[in-house]
Amino acid sequence: MKTLEKYKVDEHGYYGKFGGAYIPEMLYPNVEELRENYLKIIESPDFLDQFHSLLKDYVGRPTPLYFAERLSEKYGAKIFLKREDLCHTGAHKVNNTIGQIILAKKLNKKRIIAETGAGQHGVATATVCALMGLPCTVYMGEIDMERQKPNVERMRILGTEVKAAKSGSKTLKDATNEAMRHWINNPVDTHYIIGSVVGPHPFPDMIARFQSVISEEIKWQLKEHTGKENPNYVMACVGGGSNAAGAFYHYLDNEDVHLVAVEAAGLGNDTGKSAATTQLGKEGVLHGSKTILMQTPDGQVVEPYSISAGLDYPGIGPIHAHLFDSGRGTFHSVTDEEAMTAGIELSRLEGIIPAIESAHAFAALSKMSLKPNDTVVINLSGRGDKDLETYIKWGKY
Ligand SMILES: *Cc1c(COP(=O)(O)O)cnc(C)c1O
Repeated sequence: MKTLEKYKVDEHGYYGKFGGAYIPEMLYPNVEELRENYLKIIESPDFLDQFHSLLKDYVGRPTPLYFAERLSEKYGAKIFLKREDLCHTGAHKVNNTIGQIILAKKLNKKRIIAETGAGQHGVATATVCALMGLPCTVYMGEIDMERQKPNVERMRILGTEVKAAKSGSKTLKDATNEAMRHWINNPVDTHYIIGSVVGPHPFPDMIARFQSVISEEIKWQLKEHTGKENPNYVMACVGGGSNAAGAFYHYLDNEDVHLVAVEAAGLGNDTGKSAATTQLGKEGVLHGSKTILMQTPDGQVVEPYSISAGLDYPGIGPIHAHLFDSGRGTFHSVTDEEAMTAGIELSRLEGIIPAIESAHAFAALSKMSLKPNDTVVINLSGRGDKDLETYIKWGKY
C-alpha cells in the first residue's frame, strides 16, 4: 500500500487502519460512482472556479482571522480566532454543501437528500439546493424535529421537504438509515450530501478537502499578522470532525504545529452522559467506515449526550481516529459546564457569542500549558444565535 502523506487518505480510502467503505452491496454502485469521479471533478478548473466564486460572493470568504487581544491576555499566549461564525448560514457547514452541490450538478443528479440531527446540516443543504434549484429532502428524527423546530421551519422556507424518521430512537441514527434507504432505491438521479467527515470513502476525504479552505486561508492570514504561516497550536471542536479536519488539513504533515481536538464530555466521562468518543470508544464500524465509536461490549452503539447538538455523535471521522491513534493529535474533552462557561467568557471578553459546539474548543485553553510566545489559532466554527435558548436556560451570566 502506497501512502503519499502520513495523515491524509491513502489510495484505498484509509487513514492508517481507519476509514474504508463498509457498505451493503446495494449501496456499492452509488459509492463507486463517486469514488471514481470525485477527484477528477473537484480538481478540474471549472469546478474550482465555481467553488471559489461561490465561497467568495455567497458564503463571504475569506472569513477573517482575528487577533483576540483580551482573550490572549487572559490565557497568556497570542490567540487568533478563525471566524467561520461569519459564514452565510452561521457556520462552516456551508463550505461542504457548496462543494457537494456543484459536484452533484456535474454528476447530472436531479435530486438531493441529506440527514440532519440538530438541523444545522439540513439548513446548509436546503440553502444550496435553493441556490441551485434542485429539489431536496432532508431526513430528520421525529424527536429531533420536535426539539429543533426553528431549523425545521428554516428548511421548509427554503423549499426543502423534511421527512420524519419514526423508527428506533427517532433521532440522527434513524434519519441516517432512512436517507441510506432512499439512496439505495434511487441510485441514478440522487446525490446524498453527508454533513461531516464520516461515512464510507470517499466522503471523509471529499468533505475534508472542501473544508480545507479554512487552513488554506489561516496560512496566509497568519503570515500577514505575524510573519509566519505556522502557529504552535490549531484548536477545534470535534463532532464528526469536519471543521477540525478543515482547520488541520494544511498542517497535517507539519509536525511542529500541534493539532488539538476537543470533544464533548457532556455531564462527565464517567456519568454515562458523554460524547467523548476517543475517551470512551473502541474500534468498530459506524456509518460505513472503520473508526472509533462508543459501543457496548457486544457492539451496540451507545447513545451519546452533549448539551451541544452538533457534538452529540457516537463516533468520529476516520481521519481523527488516526490522529488520535498515531498521537499526531492531542484530544481533550470538556463538560457542558466548562463549555458554557467558556462561551459566556468569550462573549464578555471579545463581544462574540459562539455556538456551543465552538465554545468547547475555547474551554480547552485552560487545560493547556501555553507560553507567552505561543501562537494559537482557534477555529470558531459557528455563531451562537441558534443556541440562544440553551444559553438562556443555562442562565449563569
Ligand atoms: C455541526 C457543527 C459542529 C460539529 O461538526 P463537525 O463536523 O465536527 O465540525 C461544530 N460546530 C458547529 C457550529 C456546528 O454547526
